[in-house]
Amino acid sequence: MPVAPDRVAVWSATEAPASGLSAQLIAWQRQHGRHALPWQGTRDPYRVWLSEIMLQQTQVTTVLGYYERFLQHFPDVAALAAAPQDAVLAQWAGLGYYSRARNLHRCAQDVVGRFGGAFPSDPADLESLPGIGRSTAAAIAAFCFGRRTAICDGNVRRVLSRVLGFDEDLAQAAAQRRLWDIAEALLPAQDIEAYTQGLMDLGATLCTPRRPDCERCPWRDTCVARAQQRQADYPRRSRRLQRGRRDIVWLWLQEADGAVWLCQRPQTGIWAGLWCLPECDDLAQARAVGAALGVRPQVLAPFKHVLTHQDLWLQPVLLRLSPDVDVQAVERHLRGLGPQEPVPAACRRVLPHQRAAHGLPAPLQRLLESPPQPAPADLFSPG
Ligand code: SF4
Repeated sequence: MPVAPDRVAVWSATEAPASGLSAQLIAWQRQHGRHALPWQGTRDPYRVWLSEIMLQQTQVTTVLGYYERFLQHFPDVAALAAAPQDAVLAQWAGLGYYSRARNLHRCAQDVVGRFGGAFPSDPADLESLPGIGRSTAAAIAAFCFGRRTAICDGNVRRVLSRVLGFDEDLAQAAAQRRLWDIAEALLPAQDIEAYTQGLMDLGATLCTPRRPDCERCPWRDTCVARAQQRQADYPRRSRRLQRGRRDIVWLWLQEADGAVWLCQRPQTGIWAGLWCLPECDDLAQARAVGAALGVRPQVLAPFKHVLTHQDLWLQPVLLRLSPDVDVQAVERHLRGLGPQEPVPAACRRVLPHQRAAHGLPAPLQRLLESPPQPAPADLFSPG
């Protein structure tokens, strides 16, 4: 039977179902859960917090390639707080969702400035820090300080709504709050670390969005979705993401020594604060830039880069510059500035060995490392 909202109050009062479910999950986590991830086996809030932020919207296998390297560059919260933002973004480059990196940096500065360099243990204090939402605050509080508080991120919502048959529309804030109340009511009296890790492990390894492995699940005999064979119907969410498309023409201004011109993006919007090729509106404008520089542009094959909300179609145009080129003139042209107007100093020439010190979005790194073939010549025919 689906769960009625008033069951929450009953559970909060008795905790009877909670103890059964939580005991099963804790036992399963101890025997079958994940125990060897590099951010486990520690109560250091800096390491746990870093892993939690990296794991938001990113697979464990991807995070494994970044986590230790990030810690080598920034071994503690003080080192991270003192680092320039560019250095932080450079270590984050390729992980995506760059607002996480900027918030990570601001959070480290807040921990140093407001909390004397020690992460607070209270979930409400943790939640007051940049980039730490309620679920992340609960995870840090549980893993590092043994606090009895509930996580309820996207994976946990899926698991709980399936096992309990919670079929309210999670696009509604009120339904989200009710599910969170249920998550709180389910908490065990002790072993909060194993329980919290068990929820994460179950959502990541068995109760996956597609084809959950119910036969190996510790909650298979209780699960409403399994009993109804309606796993795909949970969680219920009425609002579906509308994907958009955006076309970007990148000007790849390359000099004979391998240097490329990169401009720092604004602090808001996609790839905020990262270093990127200059953009222009369309191929006609790229052609005009080429003509202004006396260079024949080479249109490379466009490629797609998928973001959460939209598909980016990236069209690189390569311009091989002669040594005496006036790049400021190019920028003036791109920005529609007059010959005497100053150009904002947001662009610089970057040699290949200097790229690592700049944060570059993943598709640009891939492009510079292995450029695509030129597009068919007629793409750049006059007209
Ligand atoms: S039985 Fe299946 S659907 Fe239910 S919680 Fe377990 S894995 Fe998820």
